[in-house]
Amino acid sequence: MSRCKLIAGNWKMNQTASQAGTLIQALKAEFPACNSCCSQGPDVLVFPPFTSIAAVLQEAGTCLQVGAQNVHWASSGAYTGEISTAMLKELGVSYVLIGHSERRQYFGESDETVNRRLHAALKAGLKAVVCIGETEQERQLGLTNCVLEHQLRWGLNQVSATDMQQVVIAYEPVWAIGTGKTASNADAQAAHAFIRSLLGTLYGQSCAEAVRILYGGSMNAGNAAGLLAQPDIDGGLIGGASLKPADFASIIRAAKQ
Ligand code: PEP
Repeated sequence: MSRCKLIAGNWKMNQTASQAGTLIQALKAEFPACNSCCSQGPDVLVFPPFTSIAAVLQEAGTCLQVGAQNVHWASSGAYTGEISTAMLKELGVSYVLIGHSERRQYFGESDETVNRRLHAALKAGLKAVVCIGETEQERQLGLTNCVLEHQLRWGLNQVSATDMQQVVIAYEPVWAIGTGKTASNADAQAAHAFIRSLLGTLYGQSCAEAVRILYGGSMNAGNAAGLLAQPDIDGGLIGGASLKPADFASIIRAAKQ
């Protein structure tokens, strides 16, 4: 089955609102008619920090989709520092990023909180990119598939096959994020194939074939084409290179081939 590729940029804690506007202008100059669905090229999505979302939406128009880097499960209340689905929807956000390894590593995100955030997002009609991935030590110990299975089963707990149409999985080996180390094409493909087969077990073959699985971890202009050519890699979640318009545009172009 052919899945429309998705190229997503995670800006992390970078780009003030005014800087973000300038970055989107530069990106638009690199690929003037960017967001299509499928026939001409990949879907393009960016995750700016909360304070830059409005500026990005205004500058991007229909050129790309905009997501938020997190979302809380409660609709409102005493959750200092968190953000609700209603706040994001009113801004015009269409996606949320859930369970990024930096959230897991530095902010105590667990499979349980990933699952709670995911249910809240889906209930509110937001699409979600759910991140999973093993650490370097887990890979060395041969535990990669075991970690992926655990994160996937619990992160997706009680999510229906119908709701999975709104979910994208990002496979991000922790050791490759922001390090300049990238999984080889073959290792990335093997992890993606494992994730898809597990989705098949959980949701059936047709659902598994339809879910997009992105690779993340030092994807850049030089390695994107090889990774994106793998049969189970449906796009990329890109950190550092998404802040460089020429590099991000070249990854988008690689996804068109
Ligand atoms: C990320 O933040 O999800 C990521 C993959 O970062 P980088 O591309 O910089 O490794």
